[in-house]
Amino acid sequence: MKAGIHPQYRRCVVTCACGKTFETHSTQPEIHVEVCSNCHPFYTGQHRLVDTAGRVERFKRKYGMK
Ligand SMILES: [Zn+2]
Repeated sequence: MKAGIHPQYRRCVVTCACGKTFETHSTQPEIHVEVCSNCHPFYTGQHRLVDTAGRVERFKRKYGMK
């Protein structure tokens, strides 16, 4: 590798919308995600809807569903 032309691969703090944080390695100092292994339904085994932006509520209003 040539010195000075590669982005630095360093420790990175990942922050999830559920509040969990964990460390990984990336060229970014921090990453924000909406789903992680702590809250993704696949891992929790629950069919819990992760709706951070209220998209489902808007959809229901728009189409008159209760
Ligand atoms: Zn999460």
